[in-house]
Formats: sequence, C-alpha cells, structure tokens
Amino acid sequence: MHHAVSSQDGNLFIESTPLSAIASQFGTPCYVYSKAALSNNFLAYQSALADKEHLICYAVKANSNIAVLQTLAELGAGFDIVSIGELERVLRAGGDPAKVVFSGVAKTASEMQRALELGIHCFNVESEAELELLNRTAASCGAIAAVSLRVNPDVDAQTHPYISTGLKENKFGVDINLAAQVYQHAAQMAHIKVIGVDCHIGSQLVDIAPFVAALERLLALVDELAGLGITLQHIDIGGGLGVRYENEEPPSPQSYMSAILPLLADRNEILVLEPGRSITANAGVMLTQVQYLKSNGEKNFAIVDAAMNDMIRPALYQAWMDIQPISAGNSGSAVAESAVYDVVGPVCETGDFLAKNRSLAICAGDYLCLMSAGAYGFVMSSNYNSRPRAPEVMVDGDQVHLVRRRETIEDLLSGESLLPAAVR
Ligand SMILES: *Cc1c(COP(=O)(O)O)cnc(C)c1O
Repeated sequence: MHHAVSSQDGNLFIESTPLSAIASQFGTPCYVYSKAALSNNFLAYQSALADKEHLICYAVKANSNIAVLQTLAELGAGFDIVSIGELERVLRAGGDPAKVVFSGVAKTASEMQRALELGIHCFNVESEAELELLNRTAASCGAIAAVSLRVNPDVDAQTHPYISTGLKENKFGVDINLAAQVYQHAAQMAHIKVIGVDCHIGSQLVDIAPFVAALERLLALVDELAGLGITLQHIDIGGGLGVRYENEEPPSPQSYMSAILPLLADRNEILVLEPGRSITANAGVMLTQVQYLKSNGEKNFAIVDAAMNDMIRPALYQAWMDIQPISAGNSGSAVAESAVYDVVGPVCETGDFLAKNRSLAICAGDYLCLMSAGAYGFVMSSNYNSRPRAPEVMVDGDQVHLVRRRETIEDLLSGESLLPAAVR
C-alpha cells in the first residue's frame, strides 16, 4: 500500500508538502490526506483486476469526505454504502449510483425508497425479513430491486473480535447453509431480481487464507443455486484487506487477487470488491500538538490536543498506531531528551490515549503525526466533551486544499434549543 508520509532529514512530508506548513496553516488537531496515495491504492486494485470483469466499490464508511469520494469516483470507483447519508455523499461527490451497492443489517423503508429512486446497482440483503420489506417497498415504488444475499460463510478472519464479521456468532448476513432456501424465496418475489451473492468476513485481515476459504464456500453456493435454476451475475467478496500499522505484513492487492482469480477462471460472474481501509488508511495522518509533558515518577505523559473523540481506534480496539514528531528540530529552543511516554488527550476518560509506551524526544509545543489515520479516523470522531471536530485537508503535490473546515462552537450548538420560559 502506498504510504502518504515521507521523511527528509527528520522532517515529515506528505507528497511535496511539509507537515509543519499544514500544522501552522490549519492548526491542530487536523487530518491530512494524500490524493496521490489514495489514487495509487485504488489503482493497485484496478490493475490487479485488469484481466477480469470487475467492480471495485470503495467502502464509504472508512473515510467519507466528499473530496476523497470525488478522487475515487474520477478513477471509476463504485461505492459500498451503509446508509442513505453515505449515498447522498456519493452523489455530491459525482459518484455513479449505478455503481453503488448498499450493505447494512438495518436498512429502513425510506432508505430503500431513495436508493430505488436513484437506481443503485444492488442491495446487499442481510436477512429474510429485510428481503420481504424490500419487495414490498419496491412494489410501492413500482420498481424492481436488484439483490445480492449477504451470506455468512462461518470463516474465522483471525482479526480483532470487534472487526470480525464472518462467524456464526456475528449479527451479519444469512447463514450460508440456509441461503439456498432464502434465494428460492427471493426468486419468487415479484419486485426482486436476484443478481448476486456477497460476504464480508472482517477487517484488517493480514492473511489470504480466510478470503480463499470464504470464496470457496460462496462458489459452492453459486453452483448449488445454478442447479436450482438461479443464475447469478456477480460475486462480491467484500473488503477487509489489512494494512501495515506497525509490523504487519498484509498481502498487496496484487497478491490477494492472484490468490483469488484462479478460483474464478472459466467463470462468467463479475467480481465485486468492497475495500475500505486498504485504500485510505495509509493515505492519511492526523496532526496533533503537545500541550504539556507530565511525569508522576513512574510514568511520563505527553498530553496532546487530540483525543479519543478525534481518533477512537486506540481506545476502541486497542489499536496500535505509529506516532512521530513532524520535524527533527521541532519547537527549536529546548533540546529534547528521549523518554518513554503515554500519548494522551484532554478527554475525561482513562481510555483516552493515542499511544502507549513510545520513545519520543519531544517538548511542549512540538507537533506529532499519528500515522495511518486515513481510515476509521475522522469518520468515527464525535463531539464528546463538546470538542469541535477537526478539519480535513487534502494534499495534491504542493497544493493544499481544505476539504472540511474545523467546526466552530456555533456549529456545536446549532440544532439545540432551550426550554420555553415557564408559563405563570
Ligand atoms: C466495513 C465494510 C467493508 C470495508 O471493510 P475494510 O476492512 O475497511 O476494507 C466492506 N464491506 C462491508 C459490508 C463492510 O461492512
């Protein structure tokens, strides 16, 4: 995967722009993305699939900034959405609804209506009850809904339990052993057109074997369905390819695809993918500034201006993320000695940390760069502790574009109101 950050004499750059320039122009905390890294990560999938009819549907939830979606739409990407909000973002970004697949366990009738009206490619249906609601909703709109059934192949993705989705115990999809029955039911519905099958077994997978196991189970189902007279046009194997945060060695899209494609040789189904993290994680970083250094004799704390509300991955999944000073000299005046720090934020929670036990030579005022923050970063941020959300910046060579401004206190309070004055 293409990494957004490079180092020259200890000074960090994103493309040809120094991170120090971005920190001083936009303040901290601040998310920064590289347009080239985003594009290259998408193109890696595209070129690995040059010889196979395919549709790459970027998983919008990983990073839904409309400039990110625009960059990918211009390269021909489709999109995997999980809400109508994400679909409206895709439209705003110039994405093609005909290349959208709609995932998620709890789609509402009004979400279905809007998606039908826009003519999305496919609904990835996760239960029989959803299928029935979709059939009724399509009938009331006078539409036919194209459907893929999300099956749960019962494969262990060997990843963190919170991001493992393909086991029987998970809430996602239909048990693969019950799927044929559901397909037969679907095939009889007047406003449903069965076109595919999909699965998504988890996120941050660093091994190819679970992907292969899941696809083998899907193919057995597709063949069983063909025997029942139900022919599918596409096979969607979801997203989930991992990235390097620390020392993981995930396969490249190229080697992932070279393990998958032989299984699809001599088959006509279109291959659909839903990569999220592997496109955006290493295309982005988050900048933060050290406010205070503090020691209690046993532990050193670097208290920074970014918190779990800005980046929740360490707090939520015990995720390890690299963190580095953005310049060798940094604040300049004082000469920092290296020490081992917990890097913590201002939020009133013990779980509020970005990194633990890191050797850093830093002073108050220095800027730090949290690496690999382009996926599941800004999108999971909140206003907890009434903290306005950070801005997002897209770097394109030496050009720097603000693609979401920092929230203001006014933004924070808009939408709230006081109770009316008491009537006496
Ligand atoms: C989250 C998700 C993805 C993307 O997963 P990544 O690990 O970010 O690649 C794809 N498909 C579905 C259905 C998802 O829920």
